[in-house]
Amino acid sequence: MATRTKRDDPPQTDLGPYRAKRDFDRTPEPSGTGSCRRGTAPQRRFVVHEHHARRLHWDLRLEHDGVLLSWAVPRGIPQLPKPNHLAVHTEDHPLEYLDFHGEIPSGSYGAGTMTVWDSGTYDLEKLEPDEVIVDLHGRRVQGRYVLFQTKGDQWMIHRMSPPDDPTREPMPEGVLPMLATNSTLPADDEHWSFEMKWDGVRALAAVEGGRVRLTSRRGNDVTERYPELHKLGDALGSTAALLDGEVVALDANGRPSFELLQPRMHVASPSTARRLAARTPVVYMLFDVLWIDGHTVMGLPYTERRERLEALGLSGPSWQTPPGHVGDGRAMLETSRELGLEGVVAKRLDSRYEPGRRSLAWRKVKVSCSQEFVVGGWLPGNGRLESHLGSLLVGYHDETGALRYAGRVGSGINEAARERIEGRLAAIERDSSPFANPPRLKDAHWVEPALVVQVRFHEWTQAGILRHPRYEGLRDDIDPDAVVREPTPGP
Ligand code: MN
Repeated sequence: MATRTKRDDPPQTDLGPYRAKRDFDRTPEPSGTGSCRRGTAPQRRFVVHEHHARRLHWDLRLEHDGVLLSWAVPRGIPQLPKPNHLAVHTEDHPLEYLDFHGEIPSGSYGAGTMTVWDSGTYDLEKLEPDEVIVDLHGRRVQGRYVLFQTKGDQWMIHRMSPPDDPTREPMPEGVLPMLATNSTLPADDEHWSFEMKWDGVRALAAVEGGRVRLTSRRGNDVTERYPELHKLGDALGSTAALLDGEVVALDANGRPSFELLQPRMHVASPSTARRLAARTPVVYMLFDVLWIDGHTVMGLPYTERRERLEALGLSGPSWQTPPGHVGDGRAMLETSRELGLEGVVAKRLDSRYEPGRRSLAWRKVKVSCSQEFVVGGWLPGNGRLESHLGSLLVGYHDETGALRYAGRVGSGINEAARERIEGRLAAIERDSSPFANPPRLKDAHWVEPALVVQVRFHEWTQAGILRHPRYEGLRDDIDPDAVVREPTPGP
């Protein structure tokens, strides 16, 4: 929309910039030279395009004076009066664009897929060079909106009407994932669904207006670590959802490898994250939904939440929705073993989502011996590693809360792991052993029980010591105080 000086002047519209940006031999978009330049419809029309361009956004276009006044809205048309959304004023589009949809070829302006997200008619209440008020009557959007200029092309769009759906609520913030209890297979397994247990790190994904925010099991923002998951925003389009799942790295055989995931878990810079994502991509295994399009579903039973999740159809190279299976727990556990997975998670069919709680309604049953331990000390290596880390002295908290020594772990600690751990150990060194039953080792260095590691092992000895333990990685996402001895694998 060009400038206008006086309130009652006709607005100056112009398709020049629109045509200048496009090569009509290449793009399927209308050139605007057709005969339907001026609308004959009695009512003013509007369209909202969902535009999967380099970055997903929505384009609001209002019919006016023979053209479409246009704004690109990165987060979409707001459904609630708060917050306002940014709307970038763009060039006037021809009327033929009202029902345009299609693929704009790469290399062209606005390359990507354009679909019609909503359309309808509107009443114009105000049209000033820096402020527009409209009442939209669309299939998806109904209500009064004001668009106002803040600076240059930067405008904001604000919903003036109350929410269409008065029960709509914003996505909850600060939610922590529900946790499973270590257990054996439930006896009444027709009341349970069994999902494969994925050996990775837990993450909640808050997806809204094409944007994704990932948080860890302790609530830390880990969005930057997994750039390949940001496209989940594109996959969901205008559907807003809070999702739960496990981030895993798959090895050459398609099995989750916690060791492979390690470098991805300790990244601070976005450029390093992108480089590592290209080398060791992750897959987000989705298994629950907590909130969807303005409504919490945490109070719904598991079976209904699964239906909602599966209806989202989320499946792609970087995310999947692995199935759950009702009953047949023993067979599912056997399948897990055959596939080389960690075990299964049994979830009660009638259970609600209990955020931040370790619940008996979710039970993890493992087929292999692997669990977290607290580091209480370390031993130096031999030869050239004399002044370096050779093995970790690990333990767990018993029923009284005391730290019990469980063995030394040297196998699996490679150069990269050594580099990652040594500085951390130096920072928490102390003079005395933190173990209630310290091992008699004359070269031992002791540390505060603050570091959690994941260890795979063959079995526990009668004396409560790990047999053939192997270091798998650091677990900064786990609270050291929560580390206990887990039941040995199910049948
Ligand atoms: Mn656009």
